[in-house]
Amino acid sequence: MYKNEGNSVTEAARQIPVYKKVDVVVAGGGPAGFGAAVAAAKNGANTLLVERNSFLGGTGTAGFVNQFRQMYHLSGIAKESVRRLGEAGCCSREAYLGYHHGMAFDQEELKFICMDMVEESGAKSLMNTWAVDAIIEKEEVKGIIIENKSGRQVILADVVIDASGDADIAVKAGSPFFLQDNTQRLPFTMGFRIGGINYQKIDAYAKQHPEDFTNAVSFSRGNFDGDKNNCISGWYSIMKKANESGELPAFINRSGFTLEGITPWALERGTGYIYGMQSLHRNPCNAEEMSDAELETKKKARTFLKFLKKVPGFENSYLMDFAKNIGVIESRLIIGESVLTEADVFENRVHADDIALSVLVQPKGGWTKRHPPDGSESTEAHRLESRNLPVYLCRFGIPYGCLLPKKVDRILVPGRNFSSTYDAMFAGRQMFECMATGEAAGMAAALAVKQNISPKYLEISTLRKQLESHGVVLNKEAIDIQRIIKMYSDRGFTLNYNPFN
Ligand SMILES: Cc1cc2nc3c(=O)[nH]c(=O)nc-3n(C[C@H](O)[C@H](O)[C@H](O)COP(=O)(O)OP(=O)(O)OC[C@H]3O[C@@H](n4cnc5c(N)ncnc54)[C@H](O)[C@@H]3O)c2cc1C
Repeated sequence: MYKNEGNSVTEAARQIPVYKKVDVVVAGGGPAGFGAAVAAAKNGANTLLVERNSFLGGTGTAGFVNQFRQMYHLSGIAKESVRRLGEAGCCSREAYLGYHHGMAFDQEELKFICMDMVEESGAKSLMNTWAVDAIIEKEEVKGIIIENKSGRQVILADVVIDASGDADIAVKAGSPFFLQDNTQRLPFTMGFRIGGINYQKIDAYAKQHPEDFTNAVSFSRGNFDGDKNNCISGWYSIMKKANESGELPAFINRSGFTLEGITPWALERGTGYIYGMQSLHRNPCNAEEMSDAELETKKKARTFLKFLKKVPGFENSYLMDFAKNIGVIESRLIIGESVLTEADVFENRVHADDIALSVLVQPKGGWTKRHPPDGSESTEAHRLESRNLPVYLCRFGIPYGCLLPKKVDRILVPGRNFSSTYDAMFAGRQMFECMATGEAAGMAAALAVKQNISPKYLEISTLRKQLESHGVVLNKEAIDIQRIIKMYSDRGFTLNYNPFN
């Protein structure tokens, strides 16, 4: 069966059983894959969603990135998921009404919501299953190969949606892609949840030492109400002392820390989330490097947690759990029929074939300025420098061609690995945008199946009309820019905005 040739082993050809034949198969159940599966099934496609974890939500749930930031434009499936989070009472109370700086949510509730919405749409899910390869015939993708407890099996499909976040299947199918050099890669971040937090004590300390905390638009300096302020960042002088005395070893490399996820539930229960244990220069598509990053950041967290008990309000804190998967901000980017560029973002461009809209406040020159690859993000020097970084309000469209990889057909790639330049990617990879590109991919796949054509040949106006009929807002004038500018100025911040585009 196997021929051992030293550095490689030759596996004999074998037959792989077909597990299912469906209209649309979606690989990966993060924000993009969840949106894609719901939209495909709701539009009549027999849809199967395959996810390596035992739950949906991707980085938002598995990575403990349980906050939606910059909620200035919500529509379609993203809006419906936020509405359900609000109804369940497990997120900031007023945020889900829209036009808000940020909203923390309970990731367990989002898992339920994704599960419910997928089920209600009629799509089926297959959990604990890796999508490992693409089945290709004459540059057309005909399905995927999966591996799970039942072994290696095939799912045949008319359209494949790769929502793995790493373009795992598209790349196997032959899509060209860009992967940033390891030395320039943004750090991976491990999130963990802690219990035993005394919020009243933190509030009192923050009020006594306001200079010790970040003053930013969605950050609090106390006054926790689980509503407007859902995170607090600082404790700079305490950290400085600990760094200087050696109590915090140099490998922790932080001048402060952020407590996140401060929802009404978290306040009631004394829980919260801390990110910031980083691993640098790792390749997200290399298993050994991913494994090392997980172990390294967990060890760092163990050291940090001992120190944390000396910080006012955290004396009785304890580790509840680590995120299931380490947070990876950027990975492979496919090269598609269209490429979103930084000019598209900063010049507020819309395109005739837009399938999603994005509104975001961001620094020019990419998020690498905010999250430097060398891990200096939390040093005092970087903190002081980034305080004065000019930020821009951008309102732009994401074209359909960004989801269509070059060189292969019958596959769509929504989510954080859509086709864009490296800098533009940071503007289109927030969870809402991923849900939106996922929704468009799912709808496009279903329409293509109905018309018996490849998604590449779909009439864009038909797709846009169908998206709008499902509540997706594609008209940028519907976004109230003045309201966002006012929200910032009310909190003493100036936004750069080019009103002529
Ligand atoms: C530290 C950090 C902070 C962030 N902060 C924010 C924020 O404040 N607000 C915000 O909106 N966004 C934030 N983001 C970005 C956001 O979380 C991601 O860009 C977004 O989740 C990407 O969605 P996705 O569906 O494309 O990919 P993912 O969320 O990565 O989901 C991919 C899914 O596919 C599954 N999968 C992967 N490979 C396979 C495979 N081969 N087979 C089967 N399943 C597979 C994974 O388990 C996962 O469920 C942050 C990200 C990080 C890492």
